[in-house]
Amino acid sequence: MLSPSLSTTSQFRRILPDGRLIFVEGAPGGPAFLIESGEVLIFRERDGIEVEVARLGQGDVFGEIALLDGGIRTASARALKDALLFEIEPAMMRRHIDAADPVIGMVMDILVSRLRSVVGPGGYLRPESIPRQTTESLLGQMRTEREIARAIRLEQFVAALQPIVSLSDGGIAGFEALARWEHPERGIVLPGGFIPIAESAKLVGYIDWLCMKAACLTLRRVKESFGAVADLWWVSVNLSGTHFAHPETVDRIDAILKETGLPPSALKVEITETVLVSDIDAAASVAKSLRDLGVRIALDDFGVGYASLAYLHRMPLDTLKIDRSFIDQVTASPQSEVIVRAMLSLGESFSLTTVAEGIERPEQAERLTALGCHYAQGWLFARPMLEAQLLPWLERYR
Ligand code: C2E
Ligand code: CA
Ligand code: CA
Repeated sequence: MLSPSLSTTSQFRRILPDGRLIFVEGAPGGPAFLIESGEVLIFRERDGIEVEVARLGQGDVFGEIALLDGGIRTASARALKDALLFEIEPAMMRRHIDAADPVIGMVMDILVSRLRSVVGPGGYLRPESIPRQTTESLLGQMRTEREIARAIRLEQFVAALQPIVSLSDGGIAGFEALARWEHPERGIVLPGGFIPIAESAKLVGYIDWLCMKAACLTLRRVKESFGAVADLWWVSVNLSGTHFAHPETVDRIDAILKETGLPPSALKVEITETVLVSDIDAAASVAKSLRDLGVRIALDDFGVGYASLAYLHRMPLDTLKIDRSFIDQVTASPQSEVIVRAMLSLGESFSLTTVAEGIERPEQAERLTALGCHYAQGWLFARPMLEAQLLPWLERYR
């Protein structure tokens, strides 16, 4: 799952100069194209003379019947006016239809069925029946995916570390690594702007590994610089539920630890309940192998899903992270306090450490300390920081 999509995404866009052949009649099947700008001439050759079949422009889709039905080519295509083409790989089309979010799946289905109806066996027709809006939203989504794929290649994803403090003494216990996209034009982009799209395009794994590697490197440097005081500091890294239970996960993490020189005991992996619901046995087996390596496992956003209780005893967990939605209300609503108390006692009975997320006010920290929660994370203590800000911020703990 982790290799094929990147190589296809790297070839998505082609700029073809005026006159360049795109494909010739009878050549083996290839991808379909969306025209982003310029024009494309579809033609047939009769007795050495090019006979125009269609002239296509921005927003038009063209390709081979072979792409859709495994049939043969019926015409040739040539770029006019420096055409900028967006390539739709057959595999990518299927991938979107099968696995993408439902809206994109639907758009792709419409596109494919329209292509079938407009590109008949006799040759090409201008696919006017495809609404402009359809191609535009499709293009927009694909453009973002392509941009993300490019950012992955350029390693523009980095980790911001947010301190997690011990409620008993106020000291640093560890950090959570949160992915940030250092976008050359837009500046720092938060995960909401890329994780959902990366998940639907099956690219999120690459971001997770980049973020984990960056986080491990930062913590190793922090440990080198701070010595004994930082000995027990750990970093907690988010792994998307879509690939946690993959057999490669353990090897990847092992390789990242070796490459960055961070001891396994200084790494935690945060997963959400979606991992457990989709395939508990596979997830438990990956979790167990990680544990054997010395890596710890945290259950993130605890209390938000439905499966928490049923799965707690089947996963080798170390930490429960109580979701911010409960912490928000803990001092204001007695019901929230009851729920938080229940979650903490559940954590205690499973011998798990507990982290309260999203602490913004001192009274929340006081209440959670009184309720026996071990650790806390939130803006009250610190925001997530890139390494350049984190190192000076940590000086107070030296
Ligand atoms: P999360 O794992 O629940 O991360 C905590 C989010 O709460 C972070 O948002 C953090 O900046 C924010 N936060 C921390 N303290 C406070 C607080 O006191 N108040 C409020 N209002 N918010 C606080 P962020 O960085 O935008 O991340 C959002 C989500 O994106 C994360 O939620 C996580 O689900 C996902 N994510 C982040 N990095 C990665 C990654 O590397 N891989 C994957 N798969 N997902 C990631
Ligand atoms: Ca998290
Ligand atoms: Ca969380």
